Amino acid sequence: MADITIKGLTFEPYISQEEIAKQVERVAAEVKRDCVTDSPVFVCVLKGAFMFAAHLYRAINMPKSEIAFIRYKSYSGTETTGEMNKILGLNDDITGREVIIIEDIVDTGLTAHALRQDIEAMSPMSVKMVTLLYKPASLKVGKEPEYVGFEIPPKFIIGYGLDLDEQARGLSDIYVLKENNNQLHNNMLNIVIFGAPGSGKGTQSENLIAHYKLFHISTGDVLRDHIKRGTELGKTAKEFIDQGQLIPDELMIGILAQVIDDNKELAQNGVIFDGFPRTIPQAEALETLLNERGTCVSAVVGLEVPEQELIDRLVKRGQMSGRSDDNEETIKKRLDVYHNQTSPLQEFYKEKGLYRAIKGIGTIDGIFEDIKAAIDSINA
Ligand code: 5GP
Repeated sequence: MADITIKGLTFEPYISQEEIAKQVERVAAEVKRDCVTDSPVFVCVLKGAFMFAAHLYRAINMPKSEIAFIRYKSYSGTETTGEMNKILGLNDDITGREVIIIEDIVDTGLTAHALRQDIEAMSPMSVKMVTLLYKPASLKVGKEPEYVGFEIPPKFIIGYGLDLDEQARGLSDIYVLKENNNQLHNNMLNIVIFGAPGSGKGTQSENLIAHYKLFHISTGDVLRDHIKRGTELGKTAKEFIDQGQLIPDELMIGILAQVIDDNKELAQNGVIFDGFPRTIPQAEALETLLNERGTCVSAVVGLEVPEQELIDRLVKRGQMSGRSDDNEETIKKRLDVYHNQTSPLQEFYKEKGLYRAIKGIGTIDGIFEDIKAAIDSINA
């Protein structure tokens, strides 16, 4: 059985229909054995218990018994009466009758306790409760249900009558909400790419994205997008930029985490990080962020091009696009900034055995072959 996603939440299989059927048979036999009359009244609490009730009632198989379907609703009374409960749909006279309430789940016990009291006030001979599921650790009021299909830990479950905002009731099996819904696939290929301006990083990133079907995260693009849309993150980021300051690591990490969590499906094969990390704390934070989600950095590619070649390429690029800031001196400064920033990171990843230096000179295809070979050698 596979996981299912409902309303953006992921649930995993928890109790199979075969197990449910087995326990329904057992509970039915116990209920039947303990009945002191041959004509008890079963009271099924809608909506959640409808499927369990159908199964159970058929298994109990007492021809002289009756079944009622009720809805138990909370509503606001007058100021003096406050919150009130109302049983809808119980039209039969249950005075002196043996009553068995059928519930789907007892969690805090609030519903079960109030309903039991309301039914007891109608002078039945006795009231007992049978529930498919019971969370003993969550019980706050009232007594334990007399008959329980499954005792479960305090987790949120759906299926077999139980809903999530009215959906999922029709599932034959029971599913449980996954503990960490941020979990990513553990066989993702996550690549960090470094390359000085002019190294061909953009072109090779595109090749990597196409070849390994990766999700591209450029923190620069994400930041610009947040600023453009005027989100809270964008506003905060803009304040730093306007004051000529670097965006703090925590803010960058927060933005990154959000992008990853919002794009789990697109990122299922892996992510290419472009322009990130820029500092050792960012690299450490990236590691934590990925580890928390069950994955890690798979490889770090550094495109290495001799300084003079970079300068020549950038001067040429500047002449072609008419960018006045692309003169040799400013280019040299930009390259210095780049090297000062990346060399500690290269060391960081070298120590982890993840860094692969790739010569960024030659044909685009030839360089890409080297990159693939390097990545595949780490992940073989
Ligand atoms: P109580 O807290 O009063 O025992 O339970 C109240 C109601 O909350 C239950 O009747 C059920 O409708 C809902 N509920 C409690 N736990 C769960 C759960 O794990 N899954 C679903 N779908 N509903 C639940």
